Amino acid sequence: MLKPDYIPDTEPTIRVGIILPEDKQETIIIDSTNSKNIKVLFDRNKVEIKHKLIVFEVKNNKVFYNGMYTELVEIYQDSEPDFITIKSVVAGRGFHWVKHIEVKLSFKIEIRVEENGFIMINEMPMEQYLACVATSEMSAECPVSYIEAQTIVARSWMLANIEQKHVHLGFDVCNDDCCQRFQGVNHLSEYSKKATENTRGQVLLHQGKIVDARYSKSCGGIMEKFENLWENKPKAYMQNKSDAPEAFDIDLTQESQMNKWVHSSPKSFCSPYYIKEDDLHKYLGNVDEVGSYFRWKIQTTQEELVDNIRDKLNLDINFVNSLTPTKRAGSGRILELLIEYIDSKGLENSITIFKDYEVRRILHKMFLYSSALVIESVSISNSPFPDRFIFYGAGWGHGAGMCQIGGIGMALAGYSTTSIVEHYYPSAHIKQIYK
Ligand SMILES: [Zn+2]
Ligand SMILES: [Zn+2]
Repeated sequence: MLKPDYIPDTEPTIRVGIILPEDKQETIIIDSTNSKNIKVLFDRNKVEIKHKLIVFEVKNNKVFYNGMYTELVEIYQDSEPDFITIKSVVAGRGFHWVKHIEVKLSFKIEIRVEENGFIMINEMPMEQYLACVATSEMSAECPVSYIEAQTIVARSWMLANIEQKHVHLGFDVCNDDCCQRFQGVNHLSEYSKKATENTRGQVLLHQGKIVDARYSKSCGGIMEKFENLWENKPKAYMQNKSDAPEAFDIDLTQESQMNKWVHSSPKSFCSPYYIKEDDLHKYLGNVDEVGSYFRWKIQTTQEELVDNIRDKLNLDINFVNSLTPTKRAGSGRILELLIEYIDSKGLENSITIFKDYEVRRILHKMFLYSSALVIESVSISNSPFPDRFIFYGAGWGHGAGMCQIGGIGMALAGYSTTSIVEHYYPSAHIKQIYK
């Protein structure tokens, strides 16, 4: 396991959660056709597996296979081109783009049962993990300087290892957007291997520490500050900054300027000026929806909104009277949202929602792309309350650190790997920490 705040001088091994207890998966189907030297251990004793298709089930809170019970399964195999195929793995866990995909895994796999569901962990050398992440996050069609930038950023984020979201379950990161998207060797290409080799051991450093290099799909034009999204520990390399060659002269904390912003298309690196929206599907990873992320519009009805708020906040609410952003961050993301509503007794009441993530969760059952949005209420019936709410938004994700679509925009415009990472993490620099 990785240690927080520690700079390794040799390549570390890392553990990735592939199936999590929250997936409540009770069957694992593995196809081992493409793994020549596979070795399987049950509770550390070697077992002969005769069939290429291996089915594990949860029984009596243990792993059950072919009449045998075991606490721990360990599968050892070589690096790719050898791999085993796991038939059904969750991608987009908890988000509206959730689906089940097939995942091909090399190196070591561990399987055990926790809370009556499987845990599967894939253990591998760091650089192998990164080569897989580069093309799981985005497609291998991306320009080289972008894939290299994404690899340096992913390596830094991993080794800074600040979040430690899954340490209690015995792995460093999960396979999904909660941490970094990892889909095994599925999309591994000569291209992504080369990008990893070219940047081997390189991380971003700031004042002698590895940068906590968070990133998201699209900032919407201006990057967000660390402390507006997570704990109040400002970072010099994560500030409000225009994602463009020159700073935009605009103050998105002001409602009127934010309104103009979402209805316009400033020339940021993540805008259609640098990447045409029709080309985006070429560059995005395979589980993403294809749509417009730079500027978007989503509607919700009064009933849908009330149901969602009641459900998510466990609030006694019958009608929404108004939705008012009362505090915005520099990227336009909503930090405080006032909801005025009528409860089941017909009384007027209000509640304030804090933080970008909560606003995205509360305003729509599908979890909105971003909270950098303006709200229009529409009244068409005789009801005293709005019939519909329209959200006009900018960007996808929290918007801090590297804007992935912007990074591709920079690469397409000819910027180098170094200039891309230094643009998104100002005041940080690249250093190779192991060979
Ligand atoms: Zn995670
Ligand atoms: Zn951007």
